[in-house]
Amino acid sequence: MGGMAAPTKRLLSIEEAQQLVLDRVERLPLESVPVGEAAGRVLGEPGRAAVDLPPFDSSAMDGFAVRAGDTPGRLPVSVRIAAGSPAPRALDPEEAMGIATGGVVPPGADAVIPLEYVVDNDNTIEIADPVPPGANIRPAGGDIRRGEVVVGAGMRLGAPQIAALAAAGLAELQTARRPRAAVLATGSELRAPGERLEPGQIYEANGLLLAAQLESAGAEVERLSSVADDEDAHREALGHGLLADLLVTSGGVSVGPHDLVRTVLAELGVEEVFWGVAVKPGKPISFGTLGHRLVFGLPGNPVSVLVGFELFVRPAVLALQGAAEPLPHFERGRLAGALEPNPVRDELVRARLSSDNEGVLLEPLPGRESHMIARAAAADALVLVRRGTEQLAVGAPVEFLRI
Ligand code: AMP
Ligand code: MG
Repeated sequence: MGGMAAPTKRLLSIEEAQQLVLDRVERLPLESVPVGEAAGRVLGEPGRAAVDLPPFDSSAMDGFAVRAGDTPGRLPVSVRIAAGSPAPRALDPEEAMGIATGGVVPPGADAVIPLEYVVDNDNTIEIADPVPPGANIRPAGGDIRRGEVVVGAGMRLGAPQIAALAAAGLAELQTARRPRAAVLATGSELRAPGERLEPGQIYEANGLLLAAQLESAGAEVERLSSVADDEDAHREALGHGLLADLLVTSGGVSVGPHDLVRTVLAELGVEEVFWGVAVKPGKPISFGTLGHRLVFGLPGNPVSVLVGFELFVRPAVLALQGAAEPLPHFERGRLAGALEPNPVRDELVRARLSSDNEGVLLEPLPGRESHMIARAAAADALVLVRRGTEQLAVGAPVEFLRI
């Protein structure tokens, strides 16, 4: 047949590319970090409780510690127990001790009756109704027992995990050191925000986007100065970036004569693992390694960077820290507007989240092109639209990623 055949190169699927990335990641070495500074880190070994939690039988209410068998009745109040100050002795039969929330339930007592349920008269209380044994006592170890796992290895530490580990008495945690990431934007047209734009120039957005994304994934970021589309400038900047654990570039990975990133990386010894994924936007993404260092070349359109980072770079940053589940967590919802799939590439479409009685709704935002970063400002989700030919109608079930 005549005509020009487009060059055929089978593109990787998103999942194949993600697997190739994760196969290349080695976890960074562990270091000890004070629990108060560990938010955002990934726990390197299981965090086991150093104490029972609570450490002692404690009162759940402000009230009176009693023997359940002494109720109902009139009891003299001998001692008042505050949190942090246990009673000097056990509770005798036929007496009560005042006790604050968090106070140690004295030996001999087996119930606490709340303040509101008694009449307290001159150090004698009247209890009208029987109190069941165990009432308002938080048993020692009722939350977790000493030696049990509070937070498992590979878990990223957020506020609840930090609180749990601190409460269980862990002062220092073993976590991978933070990945050091270098970010380089390439393109002769780029100017920093605040500079004057000459004809043909645009403001640099990707470097800032990547820095924000990398930090949110736990990396320490060094932003290199943007480079012009010039081999020497690329060689110097990429060479510097390759000192980091992870180098992420934007622009210059496509097939144009000014796309120099892949050639110069190859010259510097980077072994390319793949180039090209069947995803929209962001198809010409490249990934390679230099020893244990990882290098991502993202295309220049800002939405390609946004999407490429979430699908491929964030998982790598999390895996470098030993995260047990580094891949993006897709949730399920329904479309609030119809979508036309791309026939050959899976697409991530910017959308706005809302909900109704039946669950999450995703309203696709107008403007699906990869240069339209201003429109991404309104998005809080990326809808995964699998390649295909059938239109997705309003109400169609879809997977989405929060951003
Ligand atoms: P490239 O992948 O280098 O061909 O760039 C694709 C498109 O993205 C071009 O229109 C570039 O001007 C634009 N672009 C490249 N780098 C950036 C950047 N850092 N910030 C904003 N736009 C960019
Ligand atoms: Mg370019």
